[in-house]
Amino acid sequence: MVSDLIDVEKKSWDVDILNQVFLPFEVEIIEGIPLSNRLPVDKQIWSKTANGIFSVRSAYKIALEMQKANVGGSVLDGGSLRAFWKKLWKFQVPNKVRHFVWRAAKDTLPTKTNLVKRHVIVDDLCEECGLYAESLFHVSMECPKAREPWGFTQFSHLLSSMNFQSSMDFLWYIVMVAKWSNADVALAVTIVWALWTNRNETNHGGMRKFANQIFQWCIQYLEEYWSACTLPMKKTSAAKKNWVPPTGLNYKVNVDGAVFSAQKSVGLGVVIRHNEGHFIAGLGKKLNLPLGAIETEAKAFKIGIAFAGEIGILFWKVTLLL
Ligand SMILES: [Zn+2]
Repeated sequence: MVSDLIDVEKKSWDVDILNQVFLPFEVEIIEGIPLSNRLPVDKQIWSKTANGIFSVRSAYKIALEMQKANVGGSVLDGGSLRAFWKKLWKFQVPNKVRHFVWRAAKDTLPTKTNLVKRHVIVDDLCEECGLYAESLFHVSMECPKAREPWGFTQFSHLLSSMNFQSSMDFLWYIVMVAKWSNADVALAVTIVWALWTNRNETNHGGMRKFANQIFQWCIQYLEEYWSACTLPMKKTSAAKKNWVPPTGLNYKVNVDGAVFSAQKSVGLGVVIRHNEGHFIAGLGKKLNLPLGAIETEAKAFKIGIAFAGEIGILFWKVTLLL
């Protein structure tokens, strides 16, 4: 029942329950549905007719649309489609790229093809080549101009050898069929996003970027994002408040590790302080090892102890967190 998802006291969606029942992107959509303050009782409404009452005619129309949508495309079962959306949502890309991918997969971006479908414009030809209809697939992969940035990646061969028909086809292939690594999927979708963004900039009088600029920019953008979101910022500030200096002659060795799974590497940090909290020595290291969280913390302990020994500290106590 829908009413089970509503917090009656607050007259709002119960986010805890939503998170248990739905996928993150579904929660976001549901949270965006405004609720009536009167909290009326649940009732079934047929959304395909204006009066909310079921009619065979409207159901027939839906059946026709579904049939049309399946022509030439693959028929997807609910389970794998769900797995696909779940994976899409977990991409290690900045939020704006994630939302863009979501819209791309749903084909709701204002491409010329979509605007013609909605009767906003009448001409759907691509502004770059003037040869084909401008869909997202065309702007980001098919158009001769769009092909150039892909030439800097190892994906260009795939684009020429596979006969993708749409952006969704491409996404489905890299995520569900070829099962690309997170980093490869992130780079591919960020290139698509950058090409779309540059298309919008050019349409508004901006400069058209060179292929190598787009490629370099995507690499840098992702690397900055990955480093920023894996830094244990919160942990560090919380730990500061609780930090207790060592007693007597002891030194305190604090260690911590951060996993950069997309880059298959880990970062380790060691800080050694004396009994009044004075900083004695510190160490930061990046190791190109695909370790899990526990292994990384263990590695941090090992390096912390070895480091303390190296600088001649005999009495120490090692604890996690910097
Ligand atoms: Zn074109």
